[in-house]
Amino acid sequence: MRLLLLGGTSEGRELAAKLMTDGVDVTSSLAGRVDRPRLPAGKVRIGGFGGVLGLRNALVDFDAVVDATHPYAVGMSANAVAACEMDPPVPLLRLERPGWEGEPDWHWVDTHEVAALRAASLGDRPFITVGRQEVASFVPRLGRRPVLARVAQLPDLAVPPQWRIVTSRGPYHLLDELALMREHRADVLVTKDSGGSYAWPTIEASGQLGIPVVVVRRPPAPTGVPVVNGVDEAVEWVRALRAA
Ligand code: NAP
Repeated sequence: MRLLLLGGTSEGRELAAKLMTDGVDVTSSLAGRVDRPRLPAGKVRIGGFGGVLGLRNALVDFDAVVDATHPYAVGMSANAVAACEMDPPVPLLRLERPGWEGEPDWHWVDTHEVAALRAASLGDRPFITVGRQEVASFVPRLGRRPVLARVAQLPDLAVPPQWRIVTSRGPYHLLDELALMREHRADVLVTKDSGGSYAWPTIEASGQLGIPVVVVRRPPAPTGVPVVNGVDEAVEWVRALRAA
């Protein structure tokens, strides 16, 4: 079984390690967005495939695909569905960690632009943790405010002089998050529904400090593909495929 694992997530790394133990020939694929990515066990390829057709061409070397990309990486997930359903179809599984249930007082919004508007109405000193690619969406509304933005790697944008950018990848810890938010005197958090445990302490710290939380909803999940929420379920799917 030669498996292409579309990764870039902690679940992707965990799955790669487990499948290697099972004797699966796994190749993890990373987008190449960060300079020093956390590398999974086994073979790794880095960089885009060149759209649906590029991915389809790459699939000649694989028997199945697991899409374990981040819930917000909708482009890659859509490409995987389109490439795998071409004739002859290639088995595809989506591994997506569940979103957070959330608290009744969270401010759910559909886009980063609306998140910026909402944050501007809720506070003066936002703490933004939405990812490097999305911080630019906040400049038009919040460019003149003292924003603290946390990203994995410095974004390609002219950072407004009032902003402070910190680079970090998590997992985060409650005491550090409390200290960071107190130091910045953050009065509103903007985040997204990443799910999992890495970013949960940030939410917890906001709750303890009484800071309102603005959450950008997940984009719709890909359709027409089986979905599992856990790494072990993905391992089972691969085992069943090998046994078939
Ligand atoms: P995206 O918008 O869905 O993807 C845009 C393009 O980047 C894809 O069409 C593909 O290029 C390339 N790409 C994305 N993921 C890839 C992968 N795993 N392997 C090879 N090429 C990939 O993706 P994104 O939101 O920029 O996320 C990029 C990567 O970062 C993903 O692997 C994701 O798991 C990880 N990540 C994303 C977030 C987030 O919030 N979006 C957070 C944490 C980690 P081609 O069309 O050329 O194939």
